[in-house]
Amino acid sequence: MRKLICEIFLRTRRKKTTADELNKLGYRTRKGALFSDTTVTRLLRDTTAKGERMANYTKTGDEGKRTVLKQKSEWVITKCPRIISEQMWNKVNYILDEQESRSSYAGRKSRYLLSGFVKCSCLKKMYVKRTKIYQCKDCRVKIAISDIEGMFWGFLSDCLSNIELSKINENSNSLLGKKQTLLEETKSEKAA
Ligand SMILES: [Zn+2]
Repeated sequence: MRKLICEIFLRTRRKKTTADELNKLGYRTRKGALFSDTTVTRLLRDTTAKGERMANYTKTGDEGKRTVLKQKSEWVITKCPRIISEQMWNKVNYILDEQESRSSYAGRKSRYLLSGFVKCSCLKKMYVKRTKIYQCKDCRVKIAISDIEGMFWGFLSDCLSNIELSKINENSNSLLGKKQTLLEETKSEKAA
């Protein structure tokens, strides 16, 4: 079954599609539940399939409770029966790495208009919390995303209308003036 999951994933390259196919074929998890993309990912990532049982390789992160990897030197790897070839495991995990790095990059890039630009009065960058506010991690200063984006659009439209009305007119008028002078000069030179 582990091999089948890998085969479906290598064919479809989609975690969700792999889960759907397994469910359609009548497979269920050890607890008897339907497969989800999370379950599929965990099984594809699991190294026991290639005969390596990992221990002591994660710890609780400093900030919050997210699990992070320990130093490689601390990992304890013991052998166990292999279900799929190491080559197949590597191929699957290479694809997963690629997909994850691409999606997290795309997310950072496009989710919020002013990400990375909003700064607190203490000069630290402010980050989006619970999708509605930017907040400074240190001083807890907050501003609603809708407020700061509104201010930004107001500022932007001011800039655009200023450029259009005063600057561009002024510049083209002075350019026109210079060309007219040049034209007159050329005309009088020709007449002379
Ligand atoms: Zn601050």
